[in-house]
Amino acid sequence: VSGAPRQVEAAIIGGGQAGLATGFYLRRAGLTPGEDFVILDAGDRPGGAWTRMWDGLRLFSPSSFSSLPGWMMPPWDDAHHGYPPRSHVVDYLTRYEDRYDLRVERPCTVRDVVPESDDPAGRLVVRTDRGDFAARAVVSATGIWDRPFWPAYPGAGDFTGRQLHAAQYRNAAEFAGRRVVIVGGGNSAAQILAEVSTVAQTTWVTQRPPRFLPDDVDGRALFATARARIRALEVGREHEGIAGLGDIVMVASVRDARDRGVLVAEAMFERLLPAGVAWADGTLRDADAVIWCTGFRPALPHLRRLRLRTDAGHVPVSGPSGTQAISEPRLFLVGYGDWTGPASATLAGVGPSAKATASAIVDADS
Ligand code: FAD
Repeated sequence: VSGAPRQVEAAIIGGGQAGLATGFYLRRAGLTPGEDFVILDAGDRPGGAWTRMWDGLRLFSPSSFSSLPGWMMPPWDDAHHGYPPRSHVVDYLTRYEDRYDLRVERPCTVRDVVPESDDPAGRLVVRTDRGDFAARAVVSATGIWDRPFWPAYPGAGDFTGRQLHAAQYRNAAEFAGRRVVIVGGGNSAAQILAEVSTVAQTTWVTQRPPRFLPDDVDGRALFATARARIRALEVGREHEGIAGLGDIVMVASVRDARDRGVLVAEAMFERLLPAGVAWADGTLRDADAVIWCTGFRPALPHLRRLRLRTDAGHVPVSGPSGTQAISEPRLFLVGYGDWTGPASATLAGVGPSAKATASAIVDADS
């Protein structure tokens, strides 16, 4: 694709919930989607990472606590069916972008972002497989799903069974009758363990003892805590955020696993062997598969040419929005984690970061 770059005020990279929420606020500030700003998404359909998560994944909060700005997520019959499945979120995001006519360009993969010239007040050029855009502001909202994190353990290359990351897990059926080791102390591990243990013999290993939330605490507490943290930070007080609460939400499937006696974690193994795993004390266990539920890192390879300063894999951000890259003020990062705003990596939590980012972009223009 050749030709001069299209001139836009803002280019949003990623059309998941974070990109859509930012688009919502830019539109509300008077910018026209598809003209003044564009949303560029590599996916072949709406819904971001929710289209690619495992089949049985359910939200950790009711639909009424899982909404983006402007329009509530339609109700799901929580009382009878548990919290909404991911298909409900995909449906919601599909209708959301339609409702606000956000004109997401899809599929469109951003290869890199480069300064147009040496002038720090000039534009950034967003280079894609469908042509280039020269934007005054670029919002990176690419999430984490494209960068699964695999920790390195000795012997991983020798293991003859199957190794997969939670990002590749679809459903339990393919593990029926197998011996499966599940690694990780978070919600992904607990939920995948809960499913796989219904058909397979499972071993759950975690680096630290898992921290379960009380049964009656769900994602709602997470948002309440995030709000309390925002208020505390506004008045210059410290707040430990959600870290003080615990990690694992006791959704129905995880409670069921506890009732079946399989929600019991062992210490992390020391190494993999061709036929299984081994602990430091010499204990061995045979395994057919290891599922690494070991989290994700921000998906930022498209920004590598900007040579941003990074700190432990994060891009230092600040500014009035709390999302502006310190070493490249034309770039904003939305939705990656608490480092881009309290609870900003959740449906209900991304709104404030998206709103502040849109204001910073529009204010810089006026
Ligand atoms: P994504 O949904 O990943 O969207 C990013 C988009 O950017 C994708 O469409 C991708 O294709 C695109 N993209 C990436 N790179 C490029 C590129 N170079 N060019 C163009 N496009 C690109 N949150 C809740 O609120 N409730 C929950 O219950 C909940 N459960 C979760 C369970 C799991 C297992 C995980 C991993 C997360 C969960 N979250 C939950 C957190 C969060 O809501 C999701 O991670 C959400 O998908 C993040 O949205 P996003 O828009 O930041 O990123």
